[in-house]
Amino acid sequence: MEQVAVVTGANRGIGLEISKRLADLGFTVIFTARDEEKGRKAMNSLLKSGRKLVFFKLDVTDKTDGIRLSQFLEKEYGRVDVLFNNAAILPDENESAVSIDLSLVSKTFETNTVGAFRVAQSVISLMKKNNYGRIINISSGLGALSSMGGGYPAYRISKASLNAITKMLADELSHFNILVNSVDPGWVKTDMGGPNASKTAAQAVDNILWLAQLPDNGPSGKFFRNKEEALW
Ligand code: NDP
Repeated sequence: MEQVAVVTGANRGIGLEISKRLADLGFTVIFTARDEEKGRKAMNSLLKSGRKLVFFKLDVTDKTDGIRLSQFLEKEYGRVDVLFNNAAILPDENESAVSIDLSLVSKTFETNTVGAFRVAQSVISLMKKNNYGRIINISSGLGALSSMGGGYPAYRISKASLNAITKMLADELSHFNILVNSVDPGWVKTDMGGPNASKTAAQAVDNILWLAQLPDNGPSGKFFRNKEEALW
C-alpha cells in the first residue's frame, strides 16, 4: 500500500536528506518548501527511478498554505502517514536573553513552533480518519529544559515550546494510532549547523528515520536523542 510522508523545509539540509531516505524506503514524499523555484530544483536533484517525490509549496507561517496542504492530501491521496516537522530558523546566534529584540522571538516562534503546530493540525484529521499517523518534530538539545541556559534565546524558547506541543498532541491523540515524538538530530553540518558540526546530515538522519516506522505500540510523547536514548 502506498504510504504518504510530508516533509517541511525539504529543500536543503536535514529535510533534503530525510526526503531522499523516505523515498528510498518506498514512501510517496510530499516534498515541501516555501520557495517554489528552489524547492523544485532541490527535489529534482533527488529524482531517480523508483523514488516518488511530489512538490508542494508550503511556507509554514502561512495559514492558507496549511489549509491548501490539508485539501491536497485529502483529494490526491486520502491519507497521510508520516509528518516530519523539520522547517526552522535560527536567527539569534549572537543574541542574549537580556537584550534580544522581542520581535525576533516572535518571528522565530511563528516559524519553529506555530508553524510546526499549524502543519500538524493540517494533517491530523486525515490521520485520525485512517487511525494511523507518525508525527516527528525535529527539535534541538537547545530546547531541553533539563539543560536550559543562556544564548540562542528565541531558538531555545521555540524548541522548548515545540516539545510541549509534542507532549500535548501525544496525550490528546493517545486513543488513536497516531504517535507524536520530538527528536534532537545532534549538531549537523548544514547551513544552520555550520561546517564544524560533528555529524553529516546522513548520520543525523540515521538516528531519526526509525521514528517514521514505529510499530503501533511504539513510544509517543517522547524526546529522543537516538533510538537508545530519550531525554524524557
Ligand atoms: P537549514 O537551515 O539547513 O534548513 C532549514 C530549512 O527550513 C530550509 O529548507 C528552509 O527553507 C526551511 N524553512 C525555514 N523557514 C521556513 C518557512 N517559514 N516555511 C517553510 N520552510 C522554512 O537547517 P537544518 O537542516 O540544519 O535543520 C533542520 C531541522 O533540524 C530544524 O528544525 C533545526 O532546528 C533542527 N536542528 C538542526 C541542528 C543542526 O546542527 N543543523 C541541530 C539541532 C536541531 P529556505 O531554504 O527557504 O530558507
